[in-house]
Amino acid sequence: MNIDNYNFNGKKAIVRVDFNVPLDENGNITDDTRIRGALPTLEKILKDGGSLIIMSHMGKPKGKVNPKFSLGQIKDAVAKALGRDVKFAPDCANASEVAANLKPGEVLLLENLRFYPEEEGKPVGIEKTDAGYEDAKKEMKARQKEFAKTLASYADVYVNDAFGTAHRKHASTAVIADSFDADNKMLGYLMEKEVQAVDNILSDIKRPFTAIMGGSKVSTKIGIIENLMDKVDNLILCGGMTYTFAKAKGGHVGESICENDKLDLALDIIRKAKEKGVNLVLGTDCVAADAFSNDANTQVVSCMEIPDGWEGLDAGPNTRKAFQDVIKTAKTILWNGPAGVFEFDNFTAGSRAIAEAIVEATDNGAFSLVGGGDSVACVNKFGLADQVSYVSTGGGALLEAIEGKVLPGVAAIKG
Ligand code: AMP
Repeated sequence: MNIDNYNFNGKKAIVRVDFNVPLDENGNITDDTRIRGALPTLEKILKDGGSLIIMSHMGKPKGKVNPKFSLGQIKDAVAKALGRDVKFAPDCANASEVAANLKPGEVLLLENLRFYPEEEGKPVGIEKTDAGYEDAKKEMKARQKEFAKTLASYADVYVNDAFGTAHRKHASTAVIADSFDADNKMLGYLMEKEVQAVDNILSDIKRPFTAIMGGSKVSTKIGIIENLMDKVDNLILCGGMTYTFAKAKGGHVGESICENDKLDLALDIIRKAKEKGVNLVLGTDCVAADAFSNDANTQVVSCMEIPDGWEGLDAGPNTRKAFQDVIKTAKTILWNGPAGVFEFDNFTAGSRAIAEAIVEATDNGAFSLVGGGDSVACVNKFGLADQVSYVSTGGGALLEAIEGKVLPGVAAIKG
């Protein structure tokens, strides 16, 4: 079923959204992109005359109730975004009564799904290597099915609009879909847009195709980096992983973040890029700091010669220029992960240079996709989010989709 063709009048819709928004220490939302992203779907349901049951996870409470991750903290923000009252169910698995009493136009927000281990469906308190793990897994899968059925029982129709978790086969993202026939389950607008954006990147690629991968570690991005090497013309690797590459090449990286067990992997990436004719662009200079702090002393040094007691926290001026030169000529651009510790205002220059070059390329006709929580936070921080072609709300899901993997959240609905 397609959301545009569905009339929610008189129906109760349970919608999986990704309201895993970043909060500061006082529980205030620091970036509401994900809430805004789900609004078209939520508003369509309410406008049609349906009632709304919103479910999401927040953080990693690991199957236990933890007030730090309570969705109660964002209830007022959701109400404000929707312009109407929102009821709150403090136990997502015991909300039958309040769900049954919902009237058209009313909204119910369920407490964090991940307060129940059944949501993720991973056995608790037992390691993969322990005896009995397989039995525990089976038992948890059965419990997950029951949990999904409970959630499904609240509603007539299921909508998945949580792209951020579409790569997970969780109770609320995939298993729940089994309880609805094909006419009563669908992707929300955000999911549809995300799937389309990935399709734009993967089919009919306009060249040069430049991917910019940043963030803290190479180990978490290796799958996508290897996959992209078959597709891109230029691959910019930046952020913390710069120093693993520098060290692998025989450099001295001081106190910089560095994965010493990934040096061979870094050399392997360099070798593969050469073999495949991919222009691999790595940082050459960096802004080094004498502490991991916004107020640290800084100096620009070569990534290969960072003094002891100093760590590279941002791309240096030569690196920024090199990145920009490559990005500006691109016709397809994918950006995931910052080029420095952009959370500190004094270390945003690298990420800003990337964002500005992407905007310029986009102005010149490139299709640019920015995805992953931190890159999105970057373009928002720089006020440039509306000047790139598409800002994805998905981090891991986006990368897996671009790797060509089938997302369980999409498959559960589309088959
Ligand atoms: P990831 O979650 O792997 O995408 O990494 C995002 C994080 O990488 C952000 O919080 C950045 O602050 C961090 N990061 C980027 N560059 C560096 C760096 N040079 N040193 C330490 N952390 C970094």
